[in-house]
Amino acid sequence: MERLKEYLINNEIEYNENKKASEFTSFKIGGECFAIYPKNEKELLCTAEFCRDANISYSVLGCGSNVLISDRGCKGAVILTQKLNGVNCNDNVISADCGAQLATVCKTAYKNGLTGLEFAYGIPGSVGGAVFMNAGAYGGETKDVITKVRAYSKTGRKIVELSNAECDFGYRHSVFESSDYIILSAEYTLKPADKSEIKALMDDYIDRRKSKQPLNYPSAGSVFKRYPGRYTGQMIEQAGLKGYTVGGAQVSEKHAGFIINKGGATAKDVIDLIEHIKSVVKEREGVEIETEIRVMD
Ligand SMILES: Cc1cc2nc3c(=O)[nH]c(=O)nc-3n(C[C@H](O)[C@H](O)[C@H](O)COP(=O)(O)OP(=O)(O)OC[C@H]3O[C@@H](n4cnc5c(N)ncnc54)[C@H](O)[C@@H]3O)c2cc1C
Repeated sequence: MERLKEYLINNEIEYNENKKASEFTSFKIGGECFAIYPKNEKELLCTAEFCRDANISYSVLGCGSNVLISDRGCKGAVILTQKLNGVNCNDNVISADCGAQLATVCKTAYKNGLTGLEFAYGIPGSVGGAVFMNAGAYGGETKDVITKVRAYSKTGRKIVELSNAECDFGYRHSVFESSDYIILSAEYTLKPADKSEIKALMDDYIDRRKSKQPLNYPSAGSVFKRYPGRYTGQMIEQAGLKGYTVGGAQVSEKHAGFIINKGGATAKDVIDLIEHIKSVVKEREGVEIETEIRVMD
């Protein structure tokens, strides 16, 4: 890490070698990480290349709203994309950098009278994270509106453009999960519509979130993927697990699909709670539920 530090200092790239994951994840959990904050694509790619050449492992994160980072922090470095946040609109196409917040992209769509992205309003992630996860809600998914993704291939050491089909989107899945790409930016193609209708839909989705989700506690959203044909939250609720607590981690009383940090939860608390939920659901329903959140150590 000393070499990486020297590289970052020489190239004036911002970093914090003791940044607690609890300060940059929506769960507010996790130990110290070597966090790097590139301010443009060049800094992002040069840092990634340097790490590769120096044999230093690294992860790229957006808003940290779908991850659980270990109490010991992450191995290697964590590159946070939040400063790569440009958003541009040209006719009915919005281009957004990987670190742009979905809220900003949705507001840009609204201001330009473009429909299609309302579902994403209220998902507290970045463009990169949403493409990676194929984030979705209320019947809409990232895959419905993405026409192009620019990404950096670490093995090919080049920037490539992927079409929607090449992204291989599925339910909370994309090609990026199993490849070595860094998502750099994405292009959304939307349709013109009445601004008041767009606003009404965005407001409706936000209201639904506020009434159904425990937004007053730190969390990473729904912890588990939907089980085909079943609502996982419902299975957890029917198993009587609402309110079940391990340390500072609790199955939300408001939405059983969420685990909330009631205060001082550790990553171990959350992992133990996840294991308990999985085994109770398995015993009761005979099905194995899968986590949606990404556990990092
Ligand atoms: C209250 C709450 C509500 C939520 N509601 C929803 C919802 O309705 N629907 C939904 O789908 N999700 C929801 N989520 C989960 C989460 O917000 C989404 O999955 C979001 O898209 C994650 O984006 P992020 O930037 O936070 O990703 P991160 O958590 O930072 O990263 C997630 C994954 O993406 C990878 N990644 C991020 N950026 C890049 C990049 N540039 N290049 C390569 N890989 C990258 C990371 O390595 C990691 O594996 C919710 C979360 C919370 C806390």
